[in-house]
Amino acid sequence: MTIPVQTDITSLIERYDTLFFDSFGVLVDGVDALPGAVELVNRMNADGVNYFVVTNDASVSLESRVKTFASKGFDIPVERIVNSGSLICGYFAENNLHSAPTLVLGTRAAKDYTIAAGARLVELGADEEPDVIVLDHSDPHDWKTTLEDVLALMSRRFHQDKPVKLVLPNPDFIYPNGPGVFGFGAAAFINLLEQALERLHGPHLALVASKLGKPYSPIFLEAVRRAGTDNAVMIGDQLETDILGANNADIDSVVVTTGINRRSSPDEFKDVADELTPRYILTSLV
Ligand SMILES: [Mg+2]
Repeated sequence: MTIPVQTDITSLIERYDTLFFDSFGVLVDGVDALPGAVELVNRMNADGVNYFVVTNDASVSLESRVKTFASKGFDIPVERIVNSGSLICGYFAENNLHSAPTLVLGTRAAKDYTIAAGARLVELGADEEPDVIVLDHSDPHDWKTTLEDVLALMSRRFHQDKPVKLVLPNPDFIYPNGPGVFGFGAAAFINLLEQALERLHGPHLALVASKLGKPYSPIFLEAVRRAGTDNAVMIGDQLETDILGANNADIDSVVVTTGINRRSSPDEFKDVADELTPRYILTSLV
């Protein structure tokens, strides 16, 4: 059984070559910067600390994310953000998908990330069928009709031995949408599709989406590549994404108490599975 230990931000900066920060629940809440977060970023900028914001976001551009941070008082340059939208590029390169006809169900920014990856965008129902579907954001679609159309397409193409590749940049199942209000993330719709496809065709790797963001490995591999070191620590608020993903990637993990996780003492982790248990608990960014 793993028991986490309390730590403080100065110890982490001294012990690790690079720090990875989740955004929501660590640096910001839905409205503002969290206490001490702006001061910490200023301090890391001034002291030349190597840090990155590692976030599952794929629905806005990096430039507009920088502006949103700036509006909350943060000076976080674009090169310090690793988001799941920018992982689409690596996915297309690794799978030799340059100029592949691709359907993006998502925002303008998600389409731009996919175009930047070399894809050629096609629409659902057009003459040319997609070889790849990138499912990014949960609105604004008529999801029932869209999913049924995608299911029919994928099912038929699987039968023809030409399966359509399904890509999920942001694996968040739900997201906060105001106090006590939640929206379904793209992962919820992928989950429906995967279940339906398995029911129709049985378990098959070609019918499972490639998932790029936390807790899956591509985003951690990219963060380590960008950092230039694996002596890294991931600071996050969600056991199921930040902590599980870091643990699986052999990156030390730190849970904060300002977001979804509210456990603040080591005792409270006794019932938590090892793979979800952080190495450290950080109760303040100050
Ligand atoms: Mg978070």
